[in-house]
Amino acid sequence: MSISRRDFLKSSAAAAAASAVGITVPSEVQAAAAKGEEGWRWDKAACRFCGTGCGIMLATKNGKIVAVKGDPAAPVNRGLNCIKGYFNAKIMYGEDRLKTPLLRMNDKGEFDKHGQFKPVSWKRAFDEMEKHIRKALKASGPEGVAVFSSGQYTIMEGYAAQKMMKAGFRSNAFDPNARHCMASAVVGFYQTFGVDEPSGCYDDIELTDTIVTWGSNMAEMHPILWSRVTDRKLSDPDRVKVVNIQTYTHRTCDLGDFNIIFSPNTDLALWNYIAREIVYNHPEAIDWDFIKKHIVFATGPVNIGYGMRRAGEKSLKEGKYSAKEMEIIKKEMATTVSAKEAPALAPYGYKEGDVMKHTPGTLKHWKISFEEYKKSLEPFTLDYVAKIAKGDPNESLESFKKKLKDLAALYIEKDRKVVSFWTMGMNQHTRGTWDNTLSYNVHFLLNKQAKPGNGAYSLTGQPSACGTAREVGTFCHRLPADMMVKNPKHRAKAEKIWHIPEGTLNPVGNQHIVKIHRDIEDGVVKFAWVNVCNAFQDTANARHWIKAAREMDNFIVTSDGYPGISAKVSDLVLPSAMIYEKWGAYGNAERRTQHWRQQVIPVGHAMSDTWQWVELSKRFTVNDLWGPYTLRNGKKLPDVREKAKAMGYKPETTMYEILYANDRAKSYKIDLNSFPQKGFDNSECLGDSRNVVGSDGKVFKGYGFMLHQYLWEEYASFGRGHGHDLAPFEVYHKVRGLKWPVVNGKETQWRFNVKYDPYAAKANPGGDFAFYGPLAKKILQGNLTGPDKSKGKFALPNKAKIFARPYMDPPEMPDSNYDTWLCTGRVLEHWHSGTMTMRVPELYRAVPEALCYMNPKDAKAKGFKNGQLIWVESRRGKVKARVETRGRNRPPQGLVFVPWFDEKVFINKVTLDATCPMSKQTDYKKCAVKLYKA
Ligand code: SF4
Repeated sequence: MSISRRDFLKSSAAAAAASAVGITVPSEVQAAAAKGEEGWRWDKAACRFCGTGCGIMLATKNGKIVAVKGDPAAPVNRGLNCIKGYFNAKIMYGEDRLKTPLLRMNDKGEFDKHGQFKPVSWKRAFDEMEKHIRKALKASGPEGVAVFSSGQYTIMEGYAAQKMMKAGFRSNAFDPNARHCMASAVVGFYQTFGVDEPSGCYDDIELTDTIVTWGSNMAEMHPILWSRVTDRKLSDPDRVKVVNIQTYTHRTCDLGDFNIIFSPNTDLALWNYIAREIVYNHPEAIDWDFIKKHIVFATGPVNIGYGMRRAGEKSLKEGKYSAKEMEIIKKEMATTVSAKEAPALAPYGYKEGDVMKHTPGTLKHWKISFEEYKKSLEPFTLDYVAKIAKGDPNESLESFKKKLKDLAALYIEKDRKVVSFWTMGMNQHTRGTWDNTLSYNVHFLLNKQAKPGNGAYSLTGQPSACGTAREVGTFCHRLPADMMVKNPKHRAKAEKIWHIPEGTLNPVGNQHIVKIHRDIEDGVVKFAWVNVCNAFQDTANARHWIKAAREMDNFIVTSDGYPGISAKVSDLVLPSAMIYEKWGAYGNAERRTQHWRQQVIPVGHAMSDTWQWVELSKRFTVNDLWGPYTLRNGKKLPDVREKAKAMGYKPETTMYEILYANDRAKSYKIDLNSFPQKGFDNSECLGDSRNVVGSDGKVFKGYGFMLHQYLWEEYASFGRGHGHDLAPFEVYHKVRGLKWPVVNGKETQWRFNVKYDPYAAKANPGGDFAFYGPLAKKILQGNLTGPDKSKGKFALPNKAKIFARPYMDPPEMPDSNYDTWLCTGRVLEHWHSGTMTMRVPELYRAVPEALCYMNPKDAKAKGFKNGQLIWVESRRGKVKARVETRGRNRPPQGLVFVPWFDEKVFINKVTLDATCPMSKQTDYKKCAVKLYKA
């Protein structure tokens, strides 16, 4: 039988798909598939895109990836992928893939900030980086050297970068784009549980009776999880209920038994309404035994601002912000309590018309009594909440009230299991931390948390927001395994594991990702490196940051696979190896860590980000970096060179020798004939057939030891024995991921539950739960208006917290000039800023541009036709977008939705850089715009 290549591919795909769903395929199709796959090497990997963390299978032949399919053995997706997942290989082969370093130069071949990009060698690229880092250190100290890091770093990349930044440059100006996606969830976890990351796992979907989504379009953003939700709903449609709580109707709503469309920011009121229903009207539903044993009530200050620039900051004083922008920014210092928020703020001592003076955001909180908590809920009656929260002007108040009552009844119903999922809607919020903690309140009151099929569950957006950003700690304030730079014991532990002198690590960690942009604008950060993200497209109020990058005295570097906006505004662009061109590991939203091997050699002269960091480390010595510094706040970093000498380091010992190519690293030998190396490339450790000329001007032949394994094992040593246990490197290459903590080879399904979590069992032998997280477990005591220091601190071993937190208005709301809410977000077909997926013809064709989704009545009232170009303008900037009044997103009147994947519709020029003052996560979901014909 003769069969074409196309037929081979089709039959292979059909056979794979059929076997994934358990269908028997005819023997001739199987035979054709097998023949078509001759010479293919299949290997497992994780999907490059979302936090769902699907497993995929990659086939390579002759150094190219020739096929991708869902991994039938992967527990997350069981052989399925979403539309992005199937194009995991194609993202690497776009026409404008970066293949060589590019530097802005003048005609004489010198670096020139106003010059054109011209190809340079890796050596020249590192020469320029070294020169500008030295200049930045001299001008501003460690705070002048910054990195926009990523929730899309592989775990080893993030760890390697963190070592050089924090141990080498002693800089904590290192913060990931994950700050934009789940920082509020993290602070919510810390405040509530004392430790980061979800208690549940994806098995909850099949085990629950009720799925409630809060500010999450799971159907598009976590499509494989949504297909599991759909399966669960359709398998028992009468019993299983799905409710979606959103600011506009979208694809996720199509499955809902009912959907609640609320006015932006009032999710704070909705959670409090449910809690009030429980406490005031259904006290019998409270599991007092659980509450008494495991919970304390707490609150914190409400006058914490909105995470915008504060009065007196340099760029404000220099007049870089317009009068229109200042209308909103001035609210950072004080606001007048509105009629809408006054009832909610009354228990905290505020009334309508009061001027609330804001202090900078704080994580401070204190214990209160149950009676005080009850008092905080009192205002959240059905009438009040329905009045402020109804989001669709065309829905009747009675209909909305009925839905709120039905929602509360589902949560309260005895023996009904409930999972509350959320993503960006609750996290990208100027009160995002509050919103997260409010979700746990409801689940805790009912004892519906940390149990199979029950729990409030934060879903992460990025593939390794958990695995790299959170677990490795690639944030300005963190170290691996939930440790903090401000804690001397944590710094001492990291210094010991890294074999660096005591006192090396910088205790001041406040340069979060938005602050890094602001510090560039203020002239403090002089060198910034964009790693595995698109920081100049991703960040709200982008016009300011691009202007600062281009016009001020600084040096901006971007490492990427493609020339996105960040690369275009940079001075130097480095070509990065992409996902399957390197060894890697990601950690998904159910604490599952998944590893893969390098499948192919990178294109052109692209090299991995790990390699770029390790090569840079060769340029700096003990003498260069470990002298004394004085930070902006007057804090002194000590000279640790004498201590380094005592440890056996010389002044000229390089960071490469200390942090990467030390004896511990070299003990990880490469065995070409053994698993997992056998048969696979390893460009960093062995070099490869391209013979890339490296940073020293010589052909790079590889480090000669198993760098990835060293980085993994050293990183894992931080968490083993501390509730973050990870398995050995080789184990992950044999399994389809494991959910940490992995204890005695076994993964953990539900944390804090004695039945399932060995750490909980150890903390509370013979008991039921133990919320053993160590952070914020000793707090002051007081009432809703403040702590009473005379009462001293209260210790909370193994306890979680229920927080009193009110509704408050966001800083910018529609008014007569800017009459419409703008909400931004993503679409199924494109990943984040589109640098990869917009290069895949199939995905590009499916959704070639970002549209302005709008209610047809609004379009008619403003005289817009479907498909017409309009301006979307805020106080900060404007973009043109095409009107769409139909389709997948259906906003209520008064709100438009514009996705941010399309650099041609650069919506982050319009958005506001207000952040949750506690988590520093930006609120991309609400600002005020006006719309008019272009
Ligand atoms: S994008 Fe997300 S849902 Fe789609 S295949 Fe990848 S991990 Fe799975």
